[in-house]
Formats: sequence, C-alpha cells, structure tokens
Amino acid sequence: MDIPSTPLMILPIAADSIQEVTNMPIDPICKREVPPDTPYTSDQDGKTYYFHDPECKKKFDDVAKNIVRVKRSLKDKEKISFGRLRKDIIKPGICAACGACAASCPSIIMEGEKPKLIGPCTACGICYNQCPRTITTEEGLVGSIRHPYAARSALKGVRGQDGGVVTSLLAYLLEEGLLDCAIVTVKSEDDPWKPVPVIATTYDEIIESAGSIYAHSMTIQALMNAVQQGMRSIALVGPPCNIDAVYKIYKSPYGLLHMFMRANILPLGLFCMDTFSYEGIEEFVASRHLELKDIESMKIWRGKIELEKGGETFVYDLSELDPYRSSSCKYCTDLTARHAAISFGGVGTPDGWTTVFTRSGRGYEIFHEAVEMGYIESRDLEEKEMTRVLNLARMKKVQKYSLIRREK
Ligand SMILES: Cc1cc2nc3c(=O)[nH]c(=O)nc-3n(C[C@H](O)[C@H](O)[C@H](O)COP(=O)(O)OP(=O)(O)OC[C@H]3O[C@@H](n4cnc5c(N)ncnc54)[C@H](O)[C@@H]3O)c2cc1C
Ligand code: SF4
Ligand code: SF4
Ligand code: SF4
Repeated sequence: MDIPSTPLMILPIAADSIQEVTNMPIDPICKREVPPDTPYTSDQDGKTYYFHDPECKKKFDDVAKNIVRVKRSLKDKEKISFGRLRKDIIKPGICAACGACAASCPSIIMEGEKPKLIGPCTACGICYNQCPRTITTEEGLVGSIRHPYAARSALKGVRGQDGGVVTSLLAYLLEEGLLDCAIVTVKSEDDPWKPVPVIATTYDEIIESAGSIYAHSMTIQALMNAVQQGMRSIALVGPPCNIDAVYKIYKSPYGLLHMFMRANILPLGLFCMDTFSYEGIEEFVASRHLELKDIESMKIWRGKIELEKGGETFVYDLSELDPYRSSSCKYCTDLTARHAAISFGGVGTPDGWTTVFTRSGRGYEIFHEAVEMGYIESRDLEEKEMTRVLNLARMKKVQKYSLIRREK
C-alpha cells in the first residue's frame, strides 16, 4: 500500500480540551494563546482549532489534508478499528510506545506508555497502518503471489478436502508424464486417520490420497526415499513447515544439495493454521463416544471441527482440541506456504472450492495447463475472498506475539 508520508510531529489539539486549562484557545502549531475571535480557524472531526496566523493555519491544514489523503487511500480497503490495534499489538504487550498511533489520530492519547482511545473511532485504519509492529502489506502476510484463483476439480470421482484441486493437478502432471511421482499423505491402514507419507506413482494412488489429515506427516523422509529410488521429477505436497524444509535444503549452504542435483522438486503447499497430535485426536474423538475407525470425513474450518459418520455430522468447537495442538504450531507464522510453487487452502472460497495462489512461473504455467486440459475449473479470486485469507494470515502472524496469552 502506498501511503503518503505525514508530518506526524504536528499534533492537532482540540480547543475544548485546552480551554479547561486556560480561557484562551492555544494554537496547536506555535503553542501560543490565541483570541477566540481569531479569523484563522479550522474544523476537523467536529472540533474547531484556533490559529495565531495564516502560516500556522496552513501548516495545520496541510497535515489534515495528508490525513484525509491517507484516509482516502484506505477507504476501499477493509475496515480496521482501534480495537484491532489493541487486540493485535497493545494487549499482547508488543507495543513499542512510539506514539505513532496517537500522533495520527485525535481520538488516541498515550497514557504513560500505553495508547488509549478517548474519542470516536471510525475504523479508518490509519493508526493500524502507522504502527511499526503491525503487518499491513499483502506480501508481508501471504508472500509473493503471481495470481490468486478459486478452483475446483473437473474430474469425476475426485472427493477432495475442499475443491480436490491438489489431487486433480497431480493427476494431470502424472498423466502428462511431467512427474515421476508425488509425495502425498494417506491414512494408515492399521491406525485410521494416522498420517502416512507415501510415494504415489499411479493415477489411482493419487486419487486415493485426496483429503486432509490434521497431524504431522513426515513427507521429507518419503522424499529422500523417492530420490534414492531414482525418481527425478517429484511433487511434494505439505503444509508450510514441510515446504520450508524443501526450501532450506535447496537454499542453505549446508542443505542436501547433492540430492537435489539429481532431482527436480515441485513444492505444493497447503495453507495451515494448526495440527494436532494423532493420539490427541484419537482421545478427543473417544471422549465424544465415537471411534476414529468409523469417521468417514474430518474437516476443520470456521473455528469448528466436523466429523462425519454414516451420513451424520458431528460439529464441535475447535477450542475443544486445544490441549492436543502441536506445540511447534504455536511458533509458526506462515499460513499460506510462501515458499511453495503453488499454495492451496480452504479459507476464502465457498464450500467445495479451493483457494489457489500460483507463485512461481513454473507453478503458474502448470496450473494453467491443467485448467486448459480440463482437469480443473478456475476463476479469479474475488477481493472479499482474498480479504478472508489476509485476515486469517494476520491472525496467524500476530499469534506468535500472543504466545504467552494463549498459554495461560
Ligand atoms: C494439517 C493441515 C492443516 C490445514 N489447515 C488449513 C487451514 O487452517 N486453513 C485452510 O484454508 N486450509 C488448511 N488446510 C488445507 C486444506 O485442508 C486443503 O488441503 C486444501 O484446501 C486443498 O484442498 P483440495 O481439496 O484442493 O486438496 P485435495 O485434493 O483433497 O488434496 C489434499 C492433499 O493434501 C495431502 N495431505 C493430507 N494431509 C496431509 C498432511 N498432514 N501433510 C501433508 N500432506 C497432506 C494429501 O495427500 C493430498 O495430496 C490444511 C491442511 C492440512 C493437511
Ligand atoms: S486512526 Fe482511525 S482507526 Fe485508529 S483510532 Fe483513529 S479513527 Fe479509529
Ligand atoms: S504505533 Fe504501535 S508501537 Fe507505536 S505506540 Fe501505537 S501501538 Fe504502540
Ligand atoms: S501450523 Fe506451522 S508448524 Fe504446524 S503443521 Fe502447520 S505449517 Fe507446520
């Protein structure tokens, strides 16, 4: 977002608050007392400000104009109130007490080292956008995106977690001979809903692997095995932490470069807010008098966990799974797998669709080819859908700062 710079040191002071101290209004620029009948006045946010001379009035009006300009540039964006600044930054204790928020709005004062709202808030978002501790750019929240889409499978018989897009893309790549294999995750035959990473080399194996399992899957181990077996072109599906492992293996001077000189990896990232321990999910399900082996589908979305059994759906608040949340996930701030070639998630789009971010050139090309070849149906992601993703990404980023609060 391109925000014009504002000379923040010129603080607008409301005339009525000054009058409590002295009978004469004070010019907010030169700080001198001014007769109330001065011809130089300005009205802002329902208050009148009095000036000593035209110079002071001009300086004040210039700041006001800048604020109006910033407000205009933020007008069509999502509404962000002081409440968001309080929730994300002030309450968790990561406010640096720089005073930028108070300097940009007459409704905020610094009370000691704490910003406090003392007047009306129009949710213009200005204070949030000045704060050095917030993350406000789209790239800061979700990484660099070539193009965002809403998509769903165009293949018969694909029952994905959301739109079945990951599975359909893999099916296309394999059928076109562009892949030797894909590292996907399936349910263990012995322990239902326990994730098992596998090397899929056939169309049927890919179709079988559709759906999400909400526990850590050791995909990198399977990747190593695939390379050792002589696979050269490999897609790896995983949440951001798995994709980061691939990224590091490529980029780090101490990474397993020797392995990748023989293999070409396509990292396909899944959005991810949290995972839970397999044993924890098992315990939770048992506590609801259900058995994991009977659960046909599991979906976590909109703060709920939905379990399906024999045509019946059981819905629980996700907070009930809190005790089983993987501790590593508390330290994770990437929702959308910023290092993937393409990222896929459920948030943003309607039920039955997948949100897709193409990122790399290669990711963009293969996604388009799969659409052209009739494997996937796609449309551009709408702005309101993107806003939902950005909101969740922001929540995950600031969650890191709220660790102490969450642990209480
Ligand atoms: C642990 C986890 C947490 C998630 N959290 C969110 C979230 O908070 N918000 C959100 O919008 N989306 C989340 N997702 C992504 C979402 O559930 C879907 O995977 C995504 O929208 C793609 O849907 P699809 O129908 O196109 O994929 P499908 O066609 O169903 O393909 C899903 C692919 O994911 C692979 N997979 C399944 N489980 C795992 C696993 N544990 N590790 C690695 N790969 C796996 C499968 O093998 C398959 O290839 C999460 C996914 C996982 C696995
Ligand atoms: S700058 Fe805007 S969002 Fe922030 S407190 Fe003032 S009116 Fe509210
Ligand atoms: S701008 Fe941010 S860091 Fe600075 S005082 Fe306000 S809340 Fe604190
Ligand atoms: S929240 Fe982060 S650490 Fe946890 S599984 Fe998802 S990507 Fe990995």
